[in-house]
Amino acid sequence: MADPVIQLSSLSRRFGQKTALDDVTLSLPRGVVYGLVGANGAGKTTIIRHILGLLRAASGTVRVFGMDPVAEPVAVLSRVGYLSEENDLPAWMSVGELIRYTRAFYPTWDDGYAEELRRAFGLDPSARIRDLSRGQKARAGLIVALAHRPELLVLDEPSSGLDPIVRRDILGAVLRTIAHEGRTVFFSSHLLDEVEEVADHVIIISEGRILLSAPLAEVRERHRVDGESLSLDAVFHALVGTPASPLPLG
Ligand code: ATP
Repeated sequence: MADPVIQLSSLSRRFGQKTALDDVTLSLPRGVVYGLVGANGAGKTTIIRHILGLLRAASGTVRVFGMDPVAEPVAVLSRVGYLSEENDLPAWMSVGELIRYTRAFYPTWDDGYAEELRRAFGLDPSARIRDLSRGQKARAGLIVALAHRPELLVLDEPSSGLDPIVRRDILGAVLRTIAHEGRTVFFSSHLLDEVEEVADHVIIISEGRILLSAPLAEVRERHRVDGESLSLDAVFHALVGTPASPLPLG
């Protein structure tokens, strides 16, 4: 099998008395849409911060494209697109300025693709970021995360601020296209129906521990009642033992 894009080995993390990650081991090959699902505070953002090299592994190892993202941030991050939960774009920039500014950091930036996305998302290049709605900000963040055609796209709770129709049509299409090209998507969510719609592979995390990591088709096959596959919501409920839907908002 090809080398994994993301490899976490026995990764643990404490913040004071709080164990945020507990012996997390994941080996994720390329070309797959991975959905990381867990309740508020389960450890999703802490995993993502390790993948991006924003946190140094205190215990265990992190490899992205075979490299340590803390030791080799430029080599790793130039191949990664990232959309954060807070979506903290510079408020004073216009959409056009944001695109031109971000472009300067990436040799692989694709102007045609950036423009195609901007039009598809209906964003006015002269509009200021501060005047955009949450959904429009998420779309602007998605443009700058995607337009350098990253090998790995990391999205932390990408749907916050997007209404369900926009979420399904735009995000679903974008994620599928990326996985189809042999690229990899790693996204976190507390929305089980979203993960079920978009992900090829599901990772369930609870209180810092990975409870399940498997292809969605396999999860459906394994969890059947009277011949019927259980919904991911029911599987989550059975594994985590708490009401799964709606999960506390992250
Ligand atoms: P959310 O959906 O709320 O973003 P999450 O699954 O992303 O949740 P994390 O943000 O990874 O969860 O947090 C995991 C645990 O670690 C939580 O209990 C959180 O309070 C704690 N934690 C995370 N970062 C820190 C920090 N810098 N200092 C102290 N505690 C932290």
